[in-house]
Amino acid sequence: MGVNQAHNQNSGAPGLVSETWEGNAPPDTHQEHPIPPRKPITAPPAIADLVAPAGRAAALQIIRDEIGDCTRCALHAGRHKLVFGDGSPNARLMFVGEGPGADEDAQGIPFVGKAGQLLNNMIAAMGLKREEVYIANVVKCRPPANRTPEPVEANTCSPFLFRQIDVIRPEVLVALGATAATYLLGQRQPLAGLRGRVHAFRGTRLIVTYHPAYLLRDPRQKKEAWADLQIAMRELGLKPPSQG
Ligand code: SF4
Repeated sequence: MGVNQAHNQNSGAPGLVSETWEGNAPPDTHQEHPIPPRKPITAPPAIADLVAPAGRAAALQIIRDEIGDCTRCALHAGRHKLVFGDGSPNARLMFVGEGPGADEDAQGIPFVGKAGQLLNNMIAAMGLKREEVYIANVVKCRPPANRTPEPVEANTCSPFLFRQIDVIRPEVLVALGATAATYLLGQRQPLAGLRGRVHAFRGTRLIVTYHPAYLLRDPRQKKEAWADLQIAMRELGLKPPSQG
């Protein structure tokens, strides 16, 4: 699904040259993926001790070293590159997606394909640079054919994500899509029931919105996603860049 490069250059949120967040959004009655079947979601680990900002890059490297050439779950079998995370260890804002896709698996960096381009536009619309935020996924290896991670895979991998979150201590965390929301919050609820509000989460604030890949498939929902991002901006005290 391509991004419409040709029109709406003057509409939508600032910073989005080829995208628009506006549209006639229908009622929010769908979800992006089936919520995983009723298997246990492992309880998250206890919140780790605070790491001073100067030590966060090293603390993340310790987690990466511990993951190593991981074979803890079945996803390792199809992996080309493990996708740990990307961005500032001292980010005020962190995004969490579902898992790597083909481009991410090839490069070892999260959100570098078409969905990544849209996420970059979303970040720019918030008045931030990608290198100022931190981006990671629930699972660090690509699920076959981009399927939703199995609960056993997400439960095995997500403790590393929780540790990354504890090191970075973002002021606001944005869950991108139902899988991220499910495993972060430990709640199986349709996305519609989780969006539009601020959740207390591991001593920080969490906001739920659509996954950029879903927004590429259904651009009408960009307006809703922009409303979610504006909640995050409000929590961070950010104003959108002036429209030019
Ligand atoms: S998805 Fe996570 S737990 Fe599974 S093999 Fe990859 S790094 Fe290890």
